[in-house]
Amino acid sequence: TNQTFTMIKPDAVQDNHIGAITQMIEAGGFRIVALKKTKLTSERAGQFYEVHKERPFYEGLVNYMSSGPIVAMILEKENAVADFRKLIGATNPAQAEEGTIRKKFAKSVEANAVHGSDSDENAQIEGDFFFAADERF
Ligand code: ATP
Repeated sequence: TNQTFTMIKPDAVQDNHIGAITQMIEAGGFRIVALKKTKLTSERAGQFYEVHKERPFYEGLVNYMSSGPIVAMILEKENAVADFRKLIGATNPAQAEEGTIRKKFAKSVEANAVHGSDSDENAQIEGDFFFAADERF
């Protein structure tokens, strides 16, 4: 498909980077289809990251992702999933390329400013996790 899903994570929201990150997303050629600021309970964060539940960082990740408000968005562009992962850069900001969102705003491998779906299938699942049909335009 031509859509992906992103979240601006709690550290970046806390640091007042919603505008700057959204600006980079739009400047990168993505159209915002849906957008909301919300807060995940630890239960909802655990559900969102269910695929990582066996990983050693899971508990810390769930605590972090429920520690403050996030901004969820569905984005549209040709080749959205791959192009958005390019725009955000590597998971570990130490490895993120110059000009990427994580290079600019990520603080650590965990507090890495943004999420980006890793497949069309997950983009669909993750978008549905936050948005009803009548919240997408
Ligand atoms: P995302 O799914 O958020 O776009 P990603 O696909 O780049 O990130 P994943 O490997 O799917 O990275 O990990 C999901 C999230 O878990 C990361 O974005 C990060 O916040 C956290 N994470 C990943 N690896 C570690 C780690 N070694 N230590 C702490 N947190 C980690």
